Amino acid sequence: MVMGTSTTRLKDRLDGLCARYDTALALEKDPLIVPLAYTNPLDQEVAAFVAAHLAYGRVEPMIRAVRGALAPLGPNPAAWLRDRSEPEARNALNHALQSWVWRFHIGLDLAAWLLAWKRLDLESGEGLEPHLLPGTGEDPDTSLSRLVHRLRLELPATYGARFSLPDPQEGAACKRWRMFLRWMARTGWPDLGLWTRYPADRLVIPLDTHVARVSRFIGLTRRATPDGKMAREITDALRRLDPQDPLRYDFALSHLGILGDCPGVRKPSTCADCPLYSVCRAGSECAARISR
Ligand code: SF4
Repeated sequence: MVMGTSTTRLKDRLDGLCARYDTALALEKDPLIVPLAYTNPLDQEVAAFVAAHLAYGRVEPMIRAVRGALAPLGPNPAAWLRDRSEPEARNALNHALQSWVWRFHIGLDLAAWLLAWKRLDLESGEGLEPHLLPGTGEDPDTSLSRLVHRLRLELPATYGARFSLPDPQEGAACKRWRMFLRWMARTGWPDLGLWTRYPADRLVIPLDTHVARVSRFIGLTRRATPDGKMAREITDALRRLDPQDPLRYDFALSHLGILGDCPGVRKPSTCADCPLYSVCRAGSECAARISR
């Protein structure tokens, strides 16, 4: 693929952003720090399944909530779930998590979420990857949508459960599912890269407000609404920079916002150190118009 001058410049600037934010320090402010603390791959998958779906709200209390949700399962959550019958696991989890809460999620939601992993793992014998693999010629969102609809039938109809089950085929950005997929399928830093059959080059960016905003500033999208269409447009733009690994810029793009380093208006006084300065249009007439 031959890149134009502006594409090469954008890639160069984004590489600079990665050099600045792809760090252990930034990782401490990311829920991925929780599954990375486990060593067994299936334990990492269970921890990632929980951490990604609780990844909303302020980051420090959210990470504490994730650790609290996993604490009753001990150091090997996958073995804990596999070694018990579903009624035994349900009773133990409902009891241990009865006072646990994270914003829209209550202990009942978490218990049901973990039991869903147990059921899906029992069917596949190898965790969740087989349930999310696209069939031949199928868009990966089709398999995600299929699993979401199945879980909508199986999980209790609480607000927390509904919040965890947006459908990409209904136009949702599905940030937390896409974060889970990135962690599991992508092999580059900082991701787990445990799913070797899932097509990492077809992952879609986990779109949050930080990624949406900065992506507008640097021209990765002109859309105003942070939905599934915007997520795909940004991913397509990143794919032109790196066809095999379009999400390698996601961590840095999101952490520029998460760490409070982007004031949202491009000014020499506040943005002098930003690697995106020369390609950013924040505060310009264009950025103001497309953010309306
Ligand atoms: S507003 Fe400033 S900090 Fe934010 S992306 Fe633009 S140049 Fe970087």
